[in-house]
Amino acid sequence: MLVVMRHGATSGQIGDVVRAIEDMGYRARPMPGAQRTTVGLVGNDGRVQESRLVGLDGVLRIIHVSQPYKQVSREWCPEDTVVELDNGVKIGGEDVVIMAGPCSVESREQILECAHRVGAAGATVLRGGAFKPRTSPYSFQGLGEEGLRLLARAREETGLAIVTEALDTDSMGLVAEYADIIQIGARSMQNYSLLRAAGRAGKPVLLKRGMAATIKELLLAAEYIVAEGEPRVMLCERGVRNFDTHARNLFDLTAVVTIQELSHLPIVADPSHGTGARAKVGPMSRAAVAAGADALILEVHPDPASAASDGQQSLNLDQFDALMVELHAVAGAIGRRIARAVVSAHG
Ligand code: PEP
Ligand code: MN
Repeated sequence: MLVVMRHGATSGQIGDVVRAIEDMGYRARPMPGAQRTTVGLVGNDGRVQESRLVGLDGVLRIIHVSQPYKQVSREWCPEDTVVELDNGVKIGGEDVVIMAGPCSVESREQILECAHRVGAAGATVLRGGAFKPRTSPYSFQGLGEEGLRLLARAREETGLAIVTEALDTDSMGLVAEYADIIQIGARSMQNYSLLRAAGRAGKPVLLKRGMAATIKELLLAAEYIVAEGEPRVMLCERGVRNFDTHARNLFDLTAVVTIQELSHLPIVADPSHGTGARAKVGPMSRAAVAAGADALILEVHPDPASAASDGQQSLNLDQFDALMVELHAVAGAIGRRIARAVVSAHG
């Protein structure tokens, strides 16, 4: 439920609404907007005494949010959420953000070379897994904390923000110490205790769509994070299971548009996992920007043939350079730009 305040409502009137909501045993989320403030009532169990709210000074009207996902819905917040990172990069605003890097952090040389090159080409966020969710228990599982330290080193040298996955609640605190964005992987999308932990970790979260999850399930998973008090959530389309075997996954570009209709959260597209094949990554990256994605997350490796994971879908550094040139043109064609680094790269 949303309590919409009149234009020009005073902070005292807003405070009275917050107190009335809390007196009834619910949580209140005041949200200042460009036109007017709304106060969200969190935890509505259907027994809210509306009459206590409508009569208060400064209240314009009450809106009932019809979707089961409340706080992440467009109904709750018509304005786009813009997630701002420590390096000044904004995701969900006018500019399209490029996140790039290897599937896994493998060595100091690999991650530093990759970071410098993708940064020079215009990426503003470095991806790289230190804890890897592998289908086989015998595959490379990641460097763990050593991988996180290498990512931090790359950030120091380049100014790039870091996105890296948290696999379990045990390592959430550690990942949150190093990451600028905590990634929740497709295999973990409905791990509700992990989602709750991510919502309490104090960092923005990139939530990937489960490989057989509906958009509604993705939005409800995001609601778990926001309900814990973390509003900086980005949704990621990374392809879903498919009956056809020509691609690893079915990259659902419609999800980009649908999510923008249903939610105010930024939408990130992952054409690397979405297609699973290097040759398909460029065309689908261009298509995702054209469709309106707020960011791309791309797997890039200095030597894809030797990659410890996902080499078959990783671009090499030269291919990434070439793709960036094309993405500038596509963004320009729809009146957007590729986000530039705000803090100049050092080192
Ligand atoms: C990854 O980003 O490398 C990854 C494992 O992604 P997903 O969870 O989408 O499979
Ligand atoms: Mn990968």
